[in-house]
Amino acid sequence: MYCRSSVRPEGQLSFKLEGKVAIITGAASGIGEAAAKLFVENGAFVVVADIQEELGLKVVASIAGPDVDRAIYKKCDVTVEKQVEETVAFAIEKYGTLDIMYCNAGIMGSWESILDMDMDEDFNRTMAVNLRGPALCIKHAARAMVKRQVRGSIICTASTASVLGGLCPIAYNTSKHGLVGLVRATASELGKHGIRVNCVSPHLVATPLAITWASAKGIDNASGSGIELLASSAANLKGVALKAKHVAEAALFLASDESSVYVSGHNLVVDGGLTVVDNSIN
Ligand code: NAD
Repeated sequence: MYCRSSVRPEGQLSFKLEGKVAIITGAASGIGEAAAKLFVENGAFVVVADIQEELGLKVVASIAGPDVDRAIYKKCDVTVEKQVEETVAFAIEKYGTLDIMYCNAGIMGSWESILDMDMDEDFNRTMAVNLRGPALCIKHAARAMVKRQVRGSIICTASTASVLGGLCPIAYNTSKHGLVGLVRATASELGKHGIRVNCVSPHLVATPLAITWASAKGIDNASGSGIELLASSAANLKGVALKAKHVAEAALFLASDESSVYVSGHNLVVDGGLTVVDNSIN
């Protein structure tokens, strides 16, 4: 086990995660990878949990630097309860505790119309990863936190598809709305244990997941530029493309003591104001 301290002196807040232990699902790529990097830069020990082993190991090698124990890869399919449970146990065995669970893994799923959708394949598969997966992660992380009396922080990556319809496939859209419900319900239950549950809801970020979105929409996306162009046309912040690190910064805030006093059950939308501006008469 790695020697670490999870308790910080009262009143000594900083925008950092010194000594905290985090699991980040879907951390082999995109937003999860950026969060793993940022969390380690801010002093955390990070378990990179993902189904993509080769990419996960690369991420660990790229972020851990000379302190090779700062990050470690663990193969974890969030749809398999045993693997989620084992990943939590692995983090505790390796680093001594669990302070942060970032449920970030997600898939875009199938674009079938509701008229033709295969409910067992298309719908259930997306729900299994995007909604049941975070529920399993919250369950096992919270059990470990309650047992150890850790006032932990749980974060999920939802999407602007959690507050809008039509942008994404139906099952994806539904799963992200459901995820906000899961966050609110579990925040409500876990508050008495001092555990906070929140989510971040980004708009478009050029990642492999968004590239599948763009190609389904017929958007030309040579080297992610098509997505960045679309992302930068979001209301209020025209010209600024949302990047994975910006989403990771929002997650860092929710993970850190900066948000620890009263921020729970919140959906932090990171969209340049897109979802609050009515552009219909502009
Ligand atoms: P990404 O494709 O770069 O990363 C997703 C990661 O999740 C991959 O590493 C993949 O291997 C992993 N994953 C998939 N299924 C898994 C499973 N069953 N178990 C464990 N890991 C699994 O995509 P991203 O854009 O970084 O997506 C991260 C999250 O952000 C997702 O929840 C996604 O819905 C959300 N999101 C993305 C965007 C965007 O525009 N990129 C916008 C809003 C929300």
